[in-house]
Amino acid sequence: MSEIHIHPSLDHGIRPSQENFDGGILECLCSTDKVQVEVGAQTLHNHACGCTKCWKPEGATFAVIAVVPRDKVSVVANPQKLHIVDENAAIQRHACRECGAHLFGRIENKDHAFYGLDFVHTELSPQEGWSAPGFAAFVSSVIESGTPPSNMDAIRNRLRELKLEPYDCLSPGLMDALATHSAKQKGTYKEA
Ligand SMILES: [Zn+2]
Ligand SMILES: [Zn+2]
Repeated sequence: MSEIHIHPSLDHGIRPSQENFDGGILECLCSTDKVQVEVGAQTLHNHACGCTKCWKPEGATFAVIAVVPRDKVSVVANPQKLHIVDENAAIQRHACRECGAHLFGRIENKDHAFYGLDFVHTELSPQEGWSAPGFAAFVSSVIESGTPPSNMDAIRNRLRELKLEPYDCLSPGLMDALATHSAKQKGTYKEA
């Protein structure tokens, strides 16, 4: 077994997505009066993220985060416990103020390339069948949260072993989507 801990939901192998899976409930980590958020669709673009903003459970080097259309996300229990971690961030992360778990991240800027998609951590759900992670983003950023640079080779090797190709930004497909969005805003995008 590898000494490298990526994330508790990945360290022992990745659970597969289920076909026709159509959502479930996310719950915060409080033992009582849990915040519950209903996600009414399968998630997309699930990935491990090394950035310093995504919520990570205790001991994890990476977060695991996916997106889902915002109209599929609704708070169904204990909304009074939620607060926005940073009102000024592009992604407003709605977290439980007692246990700290992030229930969903939402973009309010309509010009943002990912406007309309909420960010969710499906490890907070008791249901199984959510989309499996497919790559690792912002890998070098784990150094910023305290990982020694000398561990990076081992971390990238472990991610490849898990079939999570490591990128130091987002995946090429998502970087292309971001660039296409800004090319459209600048008027340099020519529709084929
Ligand atoms: Zn909580
Ligand atoms: Zn992140």
